Amino acid sequence: MTEKRLKTGPDFTWRDIEVGNIVTEVGSAALRRTGDWRSQRPVVDREKCNKCGLCWLYCPDAAVELLEDGYYEPDPFYCKGCGICASVCPKEAITMIEEEEK
Ligand code: SF4
Ligand code: SF4
Repeated sequence: MTEKRLKTGPDFTWRDIEVGNIVTEVGSAALRRTGDWRSQRPVVDREKCNKCGLCWLYCPDAAVELLEDGYYEPDPFYCKGCGICASVCPKEAITMIEEEEK
C-alpha cells in the first residue's frame, strides 16, 4: 500500500482531491485520521482499571491499544467517541469527556 501525497500550490486542482468516504484498498482506512469528528473522548483512570481488556474487545473501531505495561488506551487517531468502551468497562474506569472545539 502506498501513501499518496497531495500536490499543493498553484498546480493543485479539484482533480487532485482524493476520493473520500470509501476504502480504496484493503487496510487503507488505517492511514486516515478517522477520529477527527468525535465530540467526546474516553479517558482511562488507571487507578480503577484492572487490565481486563473488555474495552479493547468491544471497541467497534479497534481503536483501543494494548500498551506494554498491560493497560489499555483509546487511540484518538481512530476513536469515534461512541462510548461503548465506557459502557462495558466493569470497573467504571473510563469516563467520556467533551472534546474542546478547535
Ligand atoms: S474495560 Fe475498563 S477495567 Fe477493563 S481494561 Fe478497559 S479500562 Fe481497564
Ligand atoms: S469511544 Fe468508541 S471508538 Fe472510542 S475507544 Fe471507546 S469504544 Fe472505541
